[in-house]
Amino acid sequence: MDFSLNEEQTAWQRKARKFAEEEIKPISLARDQIADPAETIDWELVKKGSKLGFRTAVVSKEQGGHGIDYVTQALVMAELAKADSAASKTFSQCWKWSHLISAACTDEQKERFLKPFLADDTFVLGSGQTEANSGSDTRRPPPGDIKAGVRLRAELDGDHWVLNGEKQFIAHGNIAKLFFLYVRTDFSVPFADGTTILLVPEDTPGFSRGKVYNKSGWRFYQNGEMIFEDARVPVANQIGETNGALRKGDGDTSGDMFGDLELAANALGICDAACEQALEFSRSHVSGGQPLWEQQLVQLKIGRMNMLTEALRSYVLRVAWEHDQLIHSTNAGLAMNLSTDTVQEVTELNLEIHDYAGGAMDRGADKLARDSFIWSHLAGDSVQRLKIAGRIGK
Ligand SMILES: Cc1cc2nc3c(=O)[nH]c(=O)nc-3n(C[C@H](O)[C@H](O)[C@H](O)COP(=O)(O)OP(=O)(O)OC[C@H]3O[C@@H](n4cnc5c(N)ncnc54)[C@H](O)[C@@H]3O)c2cc1C
Repeated sequence: MDFSLNEEQTAWQRKARKFAEEEIKPISLARDQIADPAETIDWELVKKGSKLGFRTAVVSKEQGGHGIDYVTQALVMAELAKADSAASKTFSQCWKWSHLISAACTDEQKERFLKPFLADDTFVLGSGQTEANSGSDTRRPPPGDIKAGVRLRAELDGDHWVLNGEKQFIAHGNIAKLFFLYVRTDFSVPFADGTTILLVPEDTPGFSRGKVYNKSGWRFYQNGEMIFEDARVPVANQIGETNGALRKGDGDTSGDMFGDLELAANALGICDAACEQALEFSRSHVSGGQPLWEQQLVQLKIGRMNMLTEALRSYVLRVAWEHDQLIHSTNAGLAMNLSTDTVQEVTELNLEIHDYAGGAMDRGADKLARDSFIWSHLAGDSVQRLKIAGRIGK
């Protein structure tokens, strides 16, 4: 397999590396340490990154974006994440849902929602599925169980859906200008047959934002609560057919493909940062009269960190390449599982090498580890692993 990059891919990688080094890295630790979880995002950074194309990178050129391929996406995400995994995710979260606008929305919806998204550097996107009593069961619904899945109720009233209920832990819940919202439109059938996706703009009457969650990792990237009290959403904002949420995009899988690759590439960036930190620290820190690096055990740990990181890089690029060739395989999900194990082991080894300094918040070793915990809640939890393992047997 040929891993060489073309000119466009290299140019995006260089641009991302420069932005990460010059703009993200200098503010990363300070943003991470802001106590108020609603104040951690740096809008100036978002605007600068947006002007360079990082927010709108995956929208096709014909539709006014940059149309970068999957290999480029993986390269850019890893570069940005090396400087700050959560800031990288703020941009790529927009990729995830602008994919879906392109794949599943009508031309009229694209006109109303894609154009403002492209024009506004602070326009970020979100998607609401999780609720107080519905999380994993929306990702892997128990077949036939009508109690599983989202409970946020939507009822038809003329040409509007009327929404009542709450969503929790929604990325960009407190700042997004547009949401893809999963609502229950039929409670008499299982979730997969009774759920609809609506496009919900931030100024929807009856919609308000609740608290912002105080996470230990990914602090730049905010999660909030969404509250709907007789909120009115035009039927014209519905994606696909009523009760057709899980058939979104008429079989288009770009959103799923993207989601798996996204987290794996982001983890790769953290691993790169951890390898670099471990090497720098072990060369500069003296223990027992000699640089830590002289200890064979430390060399072994750094060797393992690099081995795992390079193995992940190969898998991530292979998956990105497969996506670009329209090859659908279980590799995407498996790479995401591997990224969870890898990012957590590599950041743990980095903490060990730093020892007491690993807990010092001005070094950043603890931040890499805190960010890596997120994968346990997202990409590498048991449900996600089950979902992917189940695909192998099909
Ligand atoms: C950083 C971050 C960003 C997020 N962003 C969003 C977002 O933008 N939009 C959104 O809708 N949600 C978002 N979420 C929420 C996330 O999707 C949910 O946390 C996730 O689906 C799990 O739901 P839960 O927390 O209710 O856990 P639960 O479903 O209650 O699960 C708790 C634990 O039990 C395990 N478990 C549950 N059921 C089973 C089963 N049948 N078999 C085996 N194990 C099981 C799970 O794997 C997990 O380990 C985000 C979460 C995080 C951490």
